[in-house]
Amino acid sequence: MTRHQDQRAILKGMKGAFRLLRDLGLDQGQKRAQRVDVFDCIDRTGAVLMFQPLDKLLGAFMKEGGAAGIILNTERPLGMQRFTAAHELGHWVLGHDPHADDEGILRRGPLADGRVFKRVPPEEREADAFASYFLLPAHLIKTQMEVQGWDVHHLANPDTVYQAALRFGTSYAGAIYGLEREKVIGQDLRRQLLAAKPKDLKLALLDGQPLPNTRRSDVWLLTERDEGAVIEAGRDDLFLLRLNEATGAGYVWTFDELKEAGFAILKDGREPVPEGQLGAPTVRRVLAQAGHPTANTFRLKECRPWDPDDDPQTLTLHYRTATSDEAGQFERQRLERLTVQ
Ligand SMILES: [Zn+2]
Repeated sequence: MTRHQDQRAILKGMKGAFRLLRDLGLDQGQKRAQRVDVFDCIDRTGAVLMFQPLDKLLGAFMKEGGAAGIILNTERPLGMQRFTAAHELGHWVLGHDPHADDEGILRRGPLADGRVFKRVPPEEREADAFASYFLLPAHLIKTQMEVQGWDVHHLANPDTVYQAALRFGTSYAGAIYGLEREKVIGQDLRRQLLAAKPKDLKLALLDGQPLPNTRRSDVWLLTERDEGAVIEAGRDDLFLLRLNEATGAGYVWTFDELKEAGFAILKDGREPVPEGQLGAPTVRRVLAQAGHPTANTFRLKECRPWDPDDDPQTLTLHYRTATSDEAGQFERQRLERLTVQ
């Protein structure tokens, strides 16, 4: 491929991504701030979605007659599956031939890099560009930056970029490449950020608490800024809630709703108030693990225990488990098939 052909392939993938985001209504209203539910999108385009253990492959796209199918490897972490799913979805909506993908799709830079395009077929470049723009469109970066109050200085910090990646639904590296693509950060900062290891960023939030699963567990740092957020989390993820508490006026956060819904509270404490800052709000710090939650919307309350209905502050979170390690057909399609029969 020439540079010109490469740029055309990237443009085609990008346009395909924008078109599907628009057709599925994902560039509208509250959806603009939410991670793209790529498994749901595959289902809505009419393709069959399957999960199964695959040896070296990450995934594949199949076509027979007018029907399409996408297979994802259960032996890979969710972030990798989501990227593979978007890449295979790209093959499907861009009208490509059936195809299987190995880990090469992860090593290729998502966008223009002179050393890459000479070796990679145009259809792969199109699917790569599709995946990059579909999973992390500019509007998702922009709205999350607004919601969280992040500017470029915050995003020079690997801890912030890791939290951004969780809300984008990408890997840590995927978030960095997306921020560079949208010119939020430059090349130098990209290199610096890529040098940080997600595992270290996770452990730094835990004060010595081990990760339930070193490969799969993520650690979400949740604050008042996450009001109304949809938290699409893995089964082994941990949640560090860091909330301002007006203890001076008698207000305390209660976590009863979380406990009742099956979350385990692993730690509960308050950060020490820095010297000389008497009167500053206390910061409550609670570490929770999901277990098997029985509800998916939680309304946490900060109130005075003796008068709980007097001007309470609330934090509402919507929780969804993102399953990724069970072989078989995508759950919703399996249930639909059962009801049809
Ligand atoms: Zn491919």
